[in-house]
Amino acid sequence: MSASLPLLDSNALCALAKRSAAVTASCDCTQAVTAGWVSTPLSFPEHLLQDIGTLLADPYDEPSFKEYHPAGTRYESPEAPIAPQHFPYNRCQVAVCTHCGRHYLRYTEAGGYFVDRRLRALYRADLVVDA
Ligand SMILES: [Zn+2]
Repeated sequence: MSASLPLLDSNALCALAKRSAAVTASCDCTQAVTAGWVSTPLSFPEHLLQDIGTLLADPYDEPSFKEYHPAGTRYESPEAPIAPQHFPYNRCQVAVCTHCGRHYLRYTEAGGYFVDRRLRALYRADLVVDA
């Protein structure tokens, strides 16, 4: 986790989502379904991703585990709001695919015996909320 990544807010996420949605080029990064949170598929070209920002407001503070689902969505729902102050967005890095320019959110879920690298495509500006 790099301290030099700029902190992004909901406005910045909206702008990046719109840029992703405008990309029409085919790319290996769109082969897997990542509209909702998934464990990064083995087939996903992670080497193409480059972190460009963070949603972690304070690296010395444990971010909240509270989720934000006012419409009854679930963590893994493709319709779940992208709420930068809530779990898991509040610990995410924002990355861009250096091949096609689409954007992704990602974070590492650390369990007792495993680490799980979670990934969600960022292309739905309508899902981004300031919450
Ligand atoms: Zn790509």
